Amino acid sequence: MTASPQRNPGLAGIPPATARIALNRPLRRLFDYQIPNNLKLEPGQRVRIPFGRQSATGLVVDTGVTPPEGIRLKPVQSAHEPWPALPQETFRLLSWAADYYQHPLGECLFTALPPALRRGRPAAEKQDPWWQANGVPEALPANAHRQKSLLTWLHKHPSGAPASAIVAAGYTQSQLRTLLQKELVTQLNEAPSTVEPTESAPELPGPNLSAAQQVAADQIPSAESGFSASLLYGITGSGKTELYLHYLKRELGPSSQGLVLVPEINLTPQTVARFRHYFGDRIVVWHSALNDSQRLTTWLKVRRGEPVILIGTRSAVLLPFTHLKTIIVDEEHDSSYKQGEGFRYSGRDVAVYRAHLNQCPIILGSATPSLESYHNALSGKYRLIRLEERAGNAQPPAISLLDIRSRPLEGGLSRPALQAIERCLSAGQQALVFVNRRGFAPVMMCFDCGHMVECPRCDTRLTYHRRDRAMRCHHCDYQTAATETCPKCQSDAFKPVGQGTERTEDILTAQFPDTPVVRVDRDSTQRKGSIQSILKQVNTGKPCILVGTQMLAKGHDFPNVTLVVVVNADGGLFSVDFRAPEQLIQTLLQVSGRAGRGEKSGKVLVQTCHSDHPILSSLCDGHYLTLADQLLAEREENQLPPFRAMAIFRGEADTMEKSLQLLDTLKPKVRTYGIEAWGPLPALIARRADRHRAQLVLCCDNRKQLNHALGHLCQELDQQKLPAGLRWMIDVDPQETG
Ligand code: ADP
Ligand code: ZN
Ligand code: ZN
Repeated sequence: MTASPQRNPGLAGIPPATARIALNRPLRRLFDYQIPNNLKLEPGQRVRIPFGRQSATGLVVDTGVTPPEGIRLKPVQSAHEPWPALPQETFRLLSWAADYYQHPLGECLFTALPPALRRGRPAAEKQDPWWQANGVPEALPANAHRQKSLLTWLHKHPSGAPASAIVAAGYTQSQLRTLLQKELVTQLNEAPSTVEPTESAPELPGPNLSAAQQVAADQIPSAESGFSASLLYGITGSGKTELYLHYLKRELGPSSQGLVLVPEINLTPQTVARFRHYFGDRIVVWHSALNDSQRLTTWLKVRRGEPVILIGTRSAVLLPFTHLKTIIVDEEHDSSYKQGEGFRYSGRDVAVYRAHLNQCPIILGSATPSLESYHNALSGKYRLIRLEERAGNAQPPAISLLDIRSRPLEGGLSRPALQAIERCLSAGQQALVFVNRRGFAPVMMCFDCGHMVECPRCDTRLTYHRRDRAMRCHHCDYQTAATETCPKCQSDAFKPVGQGTERTEDILTAQFPDTPVVRVDRDSTQRKGSIQSILKQVNTGKPCILVGTQMLAKGHDFPNVTLVVVVNADGGLFSVDFRAPEQLIQTLLQVSGRAGRGEKSGKVLVQTCHSDHPILSSLCDGHYLTLADQLLAEREENQLPPFRAMAIFRGEADTMEKSLQLLDTLKPKVRTYGIEAWGPLPALIARRADRHRAQLVLCCDNRKQLNHALGHLCQELDQQKLPAGLRWMIDVDPQETG
């Protein structure tokens, strides 16, 4: 026998080969198994293992580890495939992220697998061969009724059908095989339209850049020059997308893969269309609306190293690329890059680390860069590339404030704003009205007894949705029927207070009965394809009014919108969340950036009760970086991120006492690591879906020191027996601190 000694458990004194395995469970521990002689395993590989009384799918984290003494390990049952589902670089990325975000490794690794593979399914697309008729039913014997019927059915589908559809129509695989033997049908591996080479969109040469764009493009390092991070500060409408296209054309060889991260793909089908125009079928997409089989197909393409250019949302950064040559993060400031629950990673920050691991360039693009990235640019970590001219003949919009303190309002809109909309429409152009709240009104109030309807499960008020006569909580899934009278005193002086998109839509429809008013918010775009039909209407260029939330601020290119009205800018001015001013400015500038992107110049009216607020007055200059400098100075003065590293421990329980108590006992431990701790305090919305939430904020000058402390604290918490109903979580680089 020639088995290698390490693999022979029979040899005295030499431990059997072992594998350390991660499971898809919220456990901060790994499990050791013995590797049978006939198996060769490496990190990242999927294996089946006995677990408790069942078997489970695990991922190999390490091999050749020394097993704990005196324990007889169970053997691994089998490997799902002979290659690692997570190739080395992806595996290292995820291991780093698990440590950085202090999330259990198993859950991090499994996040990077498509759902089918998490469940232990084979890493192969389902075979669904395509069948076409190849002969006439008359060729069959008279008594072969089912075969005749099947062939007739196929004749009704001239391009053929997949086996699954044929079976769904009531026929069987064996009938198909019989017809195949008689050469009355033919079998293809896939649908003819996708195998036809002439069907694929042609690749065009790149776009022509303007002089300013060319200057910017020349500053982006080549894909071969190793790691570099560039912050592309390009004002709205400067043609950043054009620049990305040009860069990818210039740098991506025929066998390279590229990754383009975007905040929300469903909102901007135009962007994908622009990429397809230049790269044809190389473009593949990744977003939350894909079904499991689409996910598997795309994941496999990436894993096989096909030269795709993948446009995707946050989790696309975790895909198993093997030939990744460049990464672009569009709208890098967008808060949707940070996952809000579970594995709370930032897609943007993980992307930067990935570029570093992979030794390739990354471009972070935005008209309103995050203070984190801007700070990195100022300190020389990132290269700052400026593009401060709009593309074509477009001019930046003129922003002005409209003080509404003593003005009569109609549905939140002042006379001058309505007049501006009127002028815009009669000039044959389009107007956009930005409201920061969906629904009809943020609250219903009784003007007799002062009662306001609150969510029974959260410390918030219910939003009134008039379209479906409902009162909804925007923080949990609670809803109830709206009432005409006050539920407390039955008075009919029960009225909506404040503005939501539905209410503004109603007012505008009444004011401009001959103009289409299109509402864009989460409610109006829920149905599949609704955003497409909305965009189609806007793209006709005919006069119309768009009313909507932040959704309207995101990356859209509406050339005939020349007026933007912000109904109320004051929401973020006095928030306790230290990021609120940054987010307010970003949203206002992004939404303003929708104005005047075409030939005609744009105008922005910002309604406010605080026109003397320094943030709003500097907003009118439209210089984001000047504002960012001011905000950074404040952050430095207050010793907040990005000048210090921050993490938040949150406690959640059925009572506030439990949550606070947990954090109270944690606080002195945090301090022993030399980490500053603020709190614990109840969260801004202290009760949410009947969970009482508290938080302890941790701050430290040194990120490594913070990470080290968090590692120990999480381990310790994990081993602690907590009272029933109490949960804790850790959020590193939190976006929301309220
Ligand atoms: P951004 O993403 O920076 O807001 P876009 O890439 O959407 O800007 O470009 C804004 C508009 O300008 C688009 O309609 C685009 O087609 C047009 N555009 C961009 N670059 C050029 C160019 N070099 N020549 C002509 N038009 C351009
Ligand atoms: Zn009342
Ligand atoms: Zn609620």
